[in-house]
Formats: sequence, C-alpha cells, structure tokens
Amino acid sequence: MLDSLRSIVQEVNAARDFGAVLQIIVSRVRKATRTGVCSIYLHDAQRDEYVLAATEGLFPEAVGRIRLKPGEGLVGLVAQKAEPINLDAAETHPNFVYFPESGEERFHSFLGTPIIHHRKVVGVLVIQQAERRRFDEAEEAFLITISAQLAGVIAHAEATGELARHLAPEEYLARRGETVFKGVDSVPGIGIGTAVVVNTVADLYAVPNRPADDIPRELALFQEAVEKTKRELRALRDGLAGHLSAEEQALFDVYVNLLDDRSLGGEVRVLINAGLAAETAWSEVIIEHVRKFAAMEDPYLRERASDVRDLGTRVLAHLQQSQRKERSYPPNTILIGEELTATHLADVTVEKLAGMISVKGSRNSHLAILGRALGIPTVMGAIDLPWKEMDGIAVIVDGHQGLVITNPSPETLAAYRTRQEEEALLTRDLEKFRDLPAATADGHPISLWVNTGLRIDSLLSLDRGAEGVGLYRTEIPFFLQDRFPSEEEQRKIYREQMEMFAPRPVTMRTLDIGGDKALPYFPIEEANPFLGWRGVRVTLDHPEIFIVQLRAILRASEGLDNLRILLPMISNIPELEACLALVERVYRELVEEEGYRLAKPPVGAMIEVPAAVYQVREIAKRVDFLSVGSNDLTQYLLAVDRNNPRVAELYHSFHPALLRALKEIAQGAAAEHCPVSVCGEMAGDPLSAVLLVGLGYRTLSMSASSLLRVKAALREVTLAEAERLAETALSLPDHHAVRDFLEESLASPTLARLLSGRKRQAVRA
Ligand code: PEP
Ligand code: MG
Repeated sequence: MLDSLRSIVQEVNAARDFGAVLQIIVSRVRKATRTGVCSIYLHDAQRDEYVLAATEGLFPEAVGRIRLKPGEGLVGLVAQKAEPINLDAAETHPNFVYFPESGEERFHSFLGTPIIHHRKVVGVLVIQQAERRRFDEAEEAFLITISAQLAGVIAHAEATGELARHLAPEEYLARRGETVFKGVDSVPGIGIGTAVVVNTVADLYAVPNRPADDIPRELALFQEAVEKTKRELRALRDGLAGHLSAEEQALFDVYVNLLDDRSLGGEVRVLINAGLAAETAWSEVIIEHVRKFAAMEDPYLRERASDVRDLGTRVLAHLQQSQRKERSYPPNTILIGEELTATHLADVTVEKLAGMISVKGSRNSHLAILGRALGIPTVMGAIDLPWKEMDGIAVIVDGHQGLVITNPSPETLAAYRTRQEEEALLTRDLEKFRDLPAATADGHPISLWVNTGLRIDSLLSLDRGAEGVGLYRTEIPFFLQDRFPSEEEQRKIYREQMEMFAPRPVTMRTLDIGGDKALPYFPIEEANPFLGWRGVRVTLDHPEIFIVQLRAILRASEGLDNLRILLPMISNIPELEACLALVERVYRELVEEEGYRLAKPPVGAMIEVPAAVYQVREIAKRVDFLSVGSNDLTQYLLAVDRNNPRVAELYHSFHPALLRALKEIAQGAAAEHCPVSVCGEMAGDPLSAVLLVGLGYRTLSMSASSLLRVKAALREVTLAEAERLAETALSLPDHHAVRDFLEESLASPTLARLLSGRKRQAVRA
C-alpha cells in the first residue's frame, strides 16, 4: 500500500483539475484496498450537506444526488464525530440510510474517514465491500493518510470556486457574479481594468484555459511549434551521434513520431478544432499522458512520464514564444500570472498597465518593488485566485487591502472609482511638494534619493526632484535579455542612466541575482535560495561576469564622474576585500593600460545580513559609504522569507529588533565617519521614514512614486520629535505597539491623509 500511496500522490500532482483529482483517488484507492467501492463525499457549505462527489463502485448516476446532513446516515456520522467508523455489517447500524439509486445493497462492510482541513470536516472518504469483515488497521491508516492529502486540495478548490462549480455547475454559473479573493497588499492604489493572464515560461501546469479566437491561426501556430521542435530533436540526436547507443538514438525518433497527427499531434488538433487555444489544448493532452504514464506499474514505462513532460515543455516554449510576440494588451490591463516577473512587465507599455496580481510572491518580492517604482497597484500571494480562468474578465485590484475583486457589481465599481478619484486628487496635491526642500519641520535637510532599474522609473524620478540614485538594480536590465548582455550593451544602459542624472550621483549596485531573482538564462536551483548563492557570492565565483560588468560600469562613467559602486549581500570581510580588490584592479587596467580618463568612484557595501550589522565598523572602515538593505535585513533578522505569502503577516519593518539593528548600524557608521543611507522599501513609507530620521539616518532612497509622500511627512515633524519617537519605539515590545504608537503620535491632518489608504476600512465592508 505504501507503493500505491506514492504513486497516487504522483498521479494527483499531475492531474489536470479538481474533478480529475477526485476520480484518481476513488479509482486508485479502490484498487489499492481491493474493495468494491470507494467514494468521496464533499461538504456543500451552501446547504450544509455532504454530497457524493465521486465514486467507483456505486452507480455513477448517484453522484451529486446523494446528500446527507451532518449526523445523517453513516457518512453524516463520520462527519459529525470527525473520526473514522469501521463496520462489518453497515446495514445493522442505527444510522444506516439506504439510497436505492446508489446500488450499495450488495456492500456490507463500511469504512469511512473524515477529511479534515484546519479542524473543519470538508469531506468523507469511504470504502465498502461485499464481504462481511472489519477493515484492518493498515487499511484504516491508509485511508486516513489519503484523506489528509486530499484535505489541502479540497480547501484550495473551495477557495478558488472550483468546489462550488464541481458540486453544482449550473448554480455556480448563475451565481458567478462578484467574487473577492485575498492576497498580500503589496503596492497601494486601486487598479480597475481587464485581466490579461500571462504564463510562467514553459510550465505545462501553468497554462491559462483560453479559447481559440481564430482556429486556423491556432492550428498553424501549433504546426509551426511542432516543426521547430522536430528540427530541434533531430539536431540534438545528430549532435549526440557518437555518444548514444542505437536504442537511445531511436528514442529521439520515437519522440519525433509522437508529435505526428497519428499520435499526440492528432489529439491536440481535435481539441483546437473544438475551440481551445493551441497552448491550452497542448498542455491538456500532455498532462493527461503524463498522468497515464505516471500511473503505470512498470517502472520503465513510469519513467517515460518525464520524457513526455519534457517533450511537452519543448513544444510549449515554442508556442509561447510566438504567442508572446502576438499578444496585445488592452488599455487598463491588469496583468495576472502564477509568478509574475520583470520579464512579463517588459512586454506591456506602462501607460496600459492598471494593476498587477501574482499568485506567488509577497510584499517585498522584486516584482512588487518594481510595481512600487512604477506606482502600479499590486497584489501578491493571491494563492486562491482561479487565475487560469480569468483572461479577459473585469477585475479590481485593491492594493491597499490586498484584495482582488472579479466581475465587480456596478455598486462596487462605483465605490472604487470614487476612491480612485480621491487618490488622484491626493497625488495632484502632493505635486506642490516637488519644489520644496526635503527637510524636517525645523529645517534639518534630509536627502531623498531614488531606486531605479527601468528606464521608465528613472524618468519618473527626475520628474519628482530626486537628489540622486541611491540604488540602481543592475540585475533588472539583465532580466530583459535572453542572454548575459555584452560589455558594450551594458555600458550603453548604464551610460544612459548616469547621463540622465548627471551631475547628481548614481549608485550602481553590482549584479544581485539569486534569491527570488533567477535570470531565465542562468537558472539557479537551490533548496534555500535566499540563504544560497546570491549577490557577490555569485559574481565572485564568476569573475568573467563580474569583470565585464565592472568594466561596463566604469567606462559608462567617463567624463561624468557621478558614479558610485555598491556591493550587495556582503556577509564577511574576505568577500568584501575580494570585491574591493577586483574593483581596484579593473579601474587600474582601464586607466593605466587602456588610457581611460576616469575619476575613482566611491565604493560602498550593503548592510543587509545580520552578520554585517555586527561587523558594521569593520566594514565601514574599508568602504566609502554604506547602504542599508532593509528588505533583506528584515527577512534575515526575523527569519521570514520576503517572498512567501504564508508568512507575510510576520514580515515587519517595525519589529523592535530591526529598529535596534538599524540604530546600531547608524551609530557604527557615524563612529567611522562613514556616510550611511537606507535603500530598502521602508525608506519609502512615510511612517518608517520619520522613524529612520529619528534613528540617525539623513539619506533615504526609495521608489520614485513614494518620494513626495515621504517629503510631505518629514516636513511635518521636527528632528527632536523624530528622535523622541524613535527612542520610545525602540523600547516597545512588538511591531503592533510601534505602529499604533507612531500613528497616534503623528496625527496631523496631512499625515492622516497620507496614510489614509492604508488605514481605511474596506470599501466593500
Ligand atoms: C534590500 O534588500 O533592502 C535591497 C534594497 O535590495 P533588494 O531589494 O534588491 O534585495
Ligand atoms: Mg537586498
């Protein structure tokens, strides 16, 4: 049974949809337990009943018809008691209810186990047998294990609406009006528009369900992708000619043949002709075949599942490439994806973008940071969103509360439009701060810099009066390519940025990949990417990449002399020294050997790892400036993955432990006379900005869209007040206490208005 368990889990993972999962479970459990019947009853919350949702052994007509209240019949009793019931003669039990339409009169023994998610009985799994006997302990344990696996799947289906659709398809369609899904509030603002679903590159399980707009066109696209894949496979076979046995070579021909019309190709064409887009049809056919192979007893055949999956991925990649080129984006696009990245963003013009929603990721994922830079309302971590079904529907993104509202009613739409207008008014009002100095109420100047990475956010920054670029994330242009950009390509990109801001300083951070920033052409697969190969750990291991980048950065600064270089993820002194030596070497080579006339740029280190906090003075001694990466520092200090929506509620930049670390950094830097700034997202939050000033920071670098808000907030508070607030905040026990204290203490009308989006109750409440 252990073997069966493993293969059931594999099959379930490869299932196309919720209905397929239920069917797999009943058929495989019946087989594994060698019983006559296996059925799943699911809780219909609308009617508080357990309804037969899938069966093997009972009459199929009974599905959807047999319904039992909690406590009613044996199934209802299992649900009510939330514990298994194991009987050798079910019909003699006082709770037994007979349903003539089920055909269960032949079955005497009964074992039912509750399916429990977060203490709620979401269903009941039942096996029945003709022979009178009590099921043994191993069988009971097997059923309990399957039920536990199934619980999460059912809970997810309930949240996405798949469960309701499965239990009562007609009713579901009739009721399918406005629906609200919860995610993580990531970029404030309201976006109203039309959903455009984009896919995670070449992931068969992340293909939206899209109908074909033009069937002949979809057929042609499919043919083209098949031809390209065949050519690719033949080239691969020929390239490996000397290294493969005759049988292995023949396998390539098998794959090529699989693509033919007599095989998979034919099945896909049928689905396209029936009205599915090529991509959707292809993924459906492949997933079904992968599932069949994965379920086979023979280990050799079972392994073929991964070959079919690989073939599927190859064709899908070609299909997506042509579709990406053809894709059009309506005005007010709400971009939706299972895992949105900067690459998806590159295809849409910003003017058309009204909002972004990502199923994976959280508030401080890099996509959210880009969204913030561009001022695009964003919700991350919307894990229950039925995103595959959403292409083309009307959607509201409420970035303040982390809500996604699909098919909004006219009333909801009107309420959100009013809210949007109020926000536009606030943005216009903030314009008056553009030419006012950034300083506290008593005139202490605070330098406000910007974080950039895209051309568009640089333009926005200039418009907001930024004093310089505190962080240019060089990895962002790397994302927009399909290979590492050459030295000259990089030089041009950096030059444009430095020219745009000259004579103001531009801080170029060297490549910071790894963590949640994997380049599509340089994948890094690790169990713990944020604790793995990131930032300078990668570039020091690849001096060829590092040196090319340093040369490009330095050459780009020629004649401008406004460059600063920043090193990410410094966690120890030897790495810092190795980086500094490399910068020095590249600079010397350019100046002394190649004749470039370059001013020597200041070089700084990011403080974003707890180890660096404790060695801040040693680091400060060796560099020209420090920049605090509070995004990473928060995640490493609090042990909360910045990218994981499940722990988003624990990720707090008001945590007193973080505030103490920030104070220590500011003091350490001051003791070494080393300038220090903060370039993490907290610098762009009006409340946190006041706190940072109180903790001793005089330079803050943030998204362009936050700049005027922060300036407005700082102008409301004197330096002495900010220091007093920070001192008290440090002594408070937790982040809630800090937030409440700050909000109460900073209750001026201007600040209240700046914070209104965040504090406001749900429009829909
Ligand atoms: C940070 O960690 O705070 C930071 C600014 O860098 P990034 O967000 O790019 O990791
Ligand atoms: Mg960082």
